[in-house]
Amino acid sequence: MPSRPEILFPLFGQLTQFTGIGPKIAINLSKLNINSPRDLLFTLPHSLLMRNKIETVLDAINNDIIIIEIIVDEHLENQQKNRPYKINVSDAKASFQLVFFHARKNWLWDLFPIGEKVLISGKLEYFDGKAQITHPDYVFKPGNEAQIPTLEPIYSLSAGVTQKTLSKATRQALNLLPMINEWISPSIINKFAWPTWVNALKNAHEPKNINHITFDSPNRLRLAYDEMLAHQLTLAIARENYRKSKGIKNIGNKSLSKKVMEFIPFELTNAQKRVIEEIRNDMSEPFRMNRLLQGDVGSGKTLIAFLCMVTAIEAGGQAVIMAPTEILTKQHEDTLKPLAEKAGIVLESLSGRDKGKERKSKIEAIATGKIQIIVGTHAVFQESIKYNDLRLAIIDEQHRFGVRQRMDLGNKGDAVDILIMTATPIPRSLALTNYGDMELSEVDEKPIGRKPINTVMVSSSRILEVIDRLKVAIETGNQIYWVCPLVEESEFLELTSAEDRANNLSKVLGKNNIGLVHGKMSGEEKDRVMSDFVDNKIKILVATTVIEVGVDVPNATIIVIEHSERFGLSQLHQLRGRVGRGADASTCLMIYEPPLGKTAKKRLEAIRETNDGFKIANVDLKLRGAGDVLGVSQSGLPKFRMADIETQSHLMEMAKDEARLIMTNDPSLNSQQGKALRNLLYIMGADEYIKLLSVG
Ligand code: ADP
Ligand code: MG
Repeated sequence: MPSRPEILFPLFGQLTQFTGIGPKIAINLSKLNINSPRDLLFTLPHSLLMRNKIETVLDAINNDIIIIEIIVDEHLENQQKNRPYKINVSDAKASFQLVFFHARKNWLWDLFPIGEKVLISGKLEYFDGKAQITHPDYVFKPGNEAQIPTLEPIYSLSAGVTQKTLSKATRQALNLLPMINEWISPSIINKFAWPTWVNALKNAHEPKNINHITFDSPNRLRLAYDEMLAHQLTLAIARENYRKSKGIKNIGNKSLSKKVMEFIPFELTNAQKRVIEEIRNDMSEPFRMNRLLQGDVGSGKTLIAFLCMVTAIEAGGQAVIMAPTEILTKQHEDTLKPLAEKAGIVLESLSGRDKGKERKSKIEAIATGKIQIIVGTHAVFQESIKYNDLRLAIIDEQHRFGVRQRMDLGNKGDAVDILIMTATPIPRSLALTNYGDMELSEVDEKPIGRKPINTVMVSSSRILEVIDRLKVAIETGNQIYWVCPLVEESEFLELTSAEDRANNLSKVLGKNNIGLVHGKMSGEEKDRVMSDFVDNKIKILVATTVIEVGVDVPNATIIVIEHSERFGLSQLHQLRGRVGRGADASTCLMIYEPPLGKTAKKRLEAIRETNDGFKIANVDLKLRGAGDVLGVSQSGLPKFRMADIETQSHLMEMAKDEARLIMTNDPSLNSQQGKALRNLLYIMGADEYIKLLSVG
């Protein structure tokens, strides 16, 4: 078993070896996640403190950090307790004061003998028009300027560790840096004129100018790239491992998809065509497909999924699509079954509502291969479900499914191709970060003829006006969603608020016009209400967030979101995506409870300003940070220590490409660069991935 090379040992030694770090400070550092010299070196400063040598305080302004030579004039000893100790001093042209709290008298007399010249540095401040320096940072005999750093890195700290302690320890850690071979390809190093790893770290911690610590400096970009490269390399290794397991070449002859296409009443968008090609090509490869399909709400992913499933049938196998809710399962069944029938394909749904005999016979038909396309909820990957010859598994609206479930599905067949679809677009850099082991397809275009959705924010005080407006809307043939929010504290409250709203609207707009759907209803009840809504029998569907994803009723043109301030950005975008699916112009009314908090306001405004899911995802990233955007369940996202995923994201794509290239050319990492990359992986703590590398 490979283990960490000796040359790297010093980076993982004890912190207490450094002067200035005792057991107590080591514990405090540990709370900051700093446990080794490596961790110290990877904790980069966020800003720079500059000290200017000046002749007189007259040349400085409030808060300047100065270096200055002074003559000691007079000690004003503190007579009363808790009063500061002051020393009058003068420079070449002016006098000012040094101020000390709780200082030892003897010590001050030693440092500042009357009439002597002293070199000091500290922050100059004005109080009542008088210049003073409180507790100078440095005090030396004249001529010792060289001992005072003119540029000092500033680290983010928490209690128990001072800047000085950290700087001092880090400087000692820098001395432990090993001479080590370059792991980044020379072409990249040369192109960007990046320093070596060792120099980059030295510059970052002992900056010679501000350019050594800004996010866009070659120095910091290099360090960020190292981290991203290591991360992408682990994903590439995982991907290589996955692809080594054999796959089936799933090649369709298009006989069935042609028939299906004849019954689709519109042209595929170019994006749909391109993505279908990408997926089909991938399916035809002798490896297992592991692909992520991103597309904004309403971009037509269902059809893409279906046409790819048809390819799997043409290739002689079965295909399954998992949806997160029963409502969605039913909807997929309703839209896809007629198309499947046209092509003579047997499509059935399987969900929690299938019970007894019917369920048993469906399960049998799946096992014998009689059912070719299965549409279902998580029921489709239960232990008891055996497939005859599953070739393609699609997970729709993936954010509701955990990684675990994804893997279970992959285990349903020897070589199942996997496609994950998500309508919660995340910025490409984030997608690469989290799904860098997968191939990526993007539907970056919506069907033509969609009208923009008019999105407005409405204070709850105007709710009666809204209801009046709905009356008119119903009369002119529109259908409406009314969304009641999730009530975190209580499902019961959530229900009653939805029920209350439904009752209230029934009174004003007529009972027969209103339907209610929520998570606590049985499958059959939900089906009935949903199909009444689809059939335009009810005009207003009052719902909890059960309708958040996927629901497709093109005739619905208005969505009212109550307590919109309680929803997250991507949720709001998903909800709004329920309208604007037909040719008619649509409206989204975000009702909010004033006063709006700062971030809630930003969220609603972002939704109002754009209907572009990718832009919204970017705002989300800014408001919440990368980890949260992906959600806790997706916490595969590594915490980068040096890379800044927002400002340096352009490097992620490069790192991914390089990592994949490396795995193609040198899958065991045995070349000179490969060996250097092993060091990088060890340094980044990715030891377990090195074990996955093929030997030889
Ligand atoms: P999503 O990507 O959000 O899952 P859907 O697959 O539900 O989107 O598609 C949204 C709507 O757009 C559906 O009513 C679907 O029939 C329709 N649609 C899909 N592709 C096209 C197209 N190329 N032209 C017109 N309408 C389309
Ligand atoms: Mg969908």
